[in-house]
Amino acid sequence: GLILGIESSCDETSAAVVRGGREALSNVIASQIAVHAPFGGVVPELASREHLRAIVPVVEQAMAGAGVAFDDLDAVAVTEGPGLPGALLVGVSYAKALALALGKPLIAVNHLEGHIHAVLLERVLQPAETQATPEHGQPKLALVVSGGHTHLYLAQETHHAWTYRNVGRTVDDAAGEAFDKVAKLLGLGYPGGPWVDALAPFGDARAVPFSFAQVKAKAHRRADPVALHPEEATYFSFSGIKTAVLRYVQTHDMEARIAARRQAMATMPDASPRRDLEAVRALCDQESLDLLASFQRAVVGDLVRKTFRAAERYDVAEILVSGGVAANRELRERFTAEAAAQGLPVAFPSLKLATDNAAMIAAAAWPKLITSEFAGETLTAAAGLKLGS
Ligand code: ATP
Ligand code: MG
Ligand code: FE
Repeated sequence: GLILGIESSCDETSAAVVRGGREALSNVIASQIAVHAPFGGVVPELASREHLRAIVPVVEQAMAGAGVAFDDLDAVAVTEGPGLPGALLVGVSYAKALALALGKPLIAVNHLEGHIHAVLLERVLQPAETQATPEHGQPKLALVVSGGHTHLYLAQETHHAWTYRNVGRTVDDAAGEAFDKVAKLLGLGYPGGPWVDALAPFGDARAVPFSFAQVKAKAHRRADPVALHPEEATYFSFSGIKTAVLRYVQTHDMEARIAARRQAMATMPDASPRRDLEAVRALCDQESLDLLASFQRAVVGDLVRKTFRAAERYDVAEILVSGGVAANRELRERFTAEAAAQGLPVAFPSLKLATDNAAMIAAAAWPKLITSEFAGETLTAAAGLKLGS
């Protein structure tokens, strides 16, 4: 079962060939970070234009990298949503045309389901999983923690068909959004999450005691417009801590230092945390590093606490943590430590598969190929698509 996956929901154009939902033969990712960085965030019009420019060469590279011909494919899978409408449309239109031309089935994938299935990629099959899938397996708890989402889902597989129930979400900012905003506030580059991750170990996480109130979702249980089960749903909130960071910056006269750093960062638009960590660390005073470390500690602590509490409530077999923020080292360490303490397994995608990529889209499409859940010719981009019930 060879599936070509295509992803274009945000600022990555990606194509991948995945065999059997598990083995990525190729996974080409064209990032637009350098295009959007000068604007400090994704510019939708530029994103669509860049996807249009990249889609054909990226698919060709993915096919060549996998060493397969278009005729060898069993299906073409594409991200249907959620995401930026114009960006999604590039991938959907291309995938529809390709599937039609090849006479192969087209599979529509929810981006969030893709993030969840990234965890299954590259994972060695457990003995229990090689047997026929159980009729009613114990559910898994999936935390999708990314630039646009901080959502908890109960994920259940029954005869290869996956179903999801949304049992938690953020009431305001997503965790990745908070990372990006706090990084920006402190004069660091876009996207900010990887910078915070890289710089936090140089700061003292106990320096700024953010209180639980700063990550508490107030009164949303009653007012929740989403049909979560109000008595048991989990709510995250990350806009309060962002405001607390802003207030700290103002009351500690950090603005001049931050402005200087922002100016220095602007001269290195394609700086990367891996290559340029020393240079950027040299731009950071200790107070900034302490603030970043404290922020990260508070956010990660909240994610760990609430996710494990939900895992206990639903008696799940395993926790899956995915999405861009799942690349965060402190998050992985804290989840892993808590999993060991509680005797409940936790799994992550590899670092490259945590952020947006097409291999996860092809992986999520695999069960749909088995169950013949194909998209029709009317498939269109669904910017506001939700996952599950
Ligand atoms: P969504 O999946 O919700 O539609 P998205 O596709 O933009 O949003 P991803 O690409 O999955 O999100 O993740 C990007 C987000 O992850 C950004 O907010 C980025 O800052 C954050 N991120 C990436 N790496 C790290 C890291 N190491 N530590 C913390 N945050 C990170
Ligand atoms: Mg992205
Ligand atoms: Fe994503």
